[in-house]
Amino acid sequence: MTHSHNVPARQVRSAEEAARVMRAAGLRVTASRRAVAQALFAASDPLTAEQIAEATGGDPASVYRNLDTLEGLGLVRHVHLGHGPGCYSPTAQDEREYLVCEECGDRLALPAARLDAVRAVVRDEFGFEARFSHFPIVGRCARCAAASPG
Ligand SMILES: [Zn+2]
Ligand SMILES: [Zn+2]
Repeated sequence: MTHSHNVPARQVRSAEEAARVMRAAGLRVTASRRAVAQALFAASDPLTAEQIAEATGGDPASVYRNLDTLEGLGLVRHVHLGHGPGCYSPTAQDEREYLVCEECGDRLALPAARLDAVRAVVRDEFGFEARFSHFPIVGRCARCAAASPG
């Protein structure tokens, strides 16, 4: 799996626009690349390669390769939500950051600005630019904390 989070995001809003970016980069727009892009743009939540493979009838290994390609072009990003595989979404969707409960697996997707105060504390304290879009903040959700305090 590549970790191409430093590739600039592209403000591409559809699978058709994504196909244009692929062509402009000299890549062939194969049926499977197009299908992966369509699945991602149609979904409201990040998808795993397995979910994309199921939705498109492709095999997971080729879906992974296509996701790597799209990620390398700045069309797609991934986030690690728990122990499972990465979940992919188009970079054109507003960048979200995540809180994940390690007890029940519940997750909260937030606009990045909601965590700016946390970022400011970490920056002031450690000079570190924290980002929660690739790896979430992990802990206990309000429900699990209330169910077994401490
Ligand atoms: Zn990663
Ligand atoms: Zn929980």
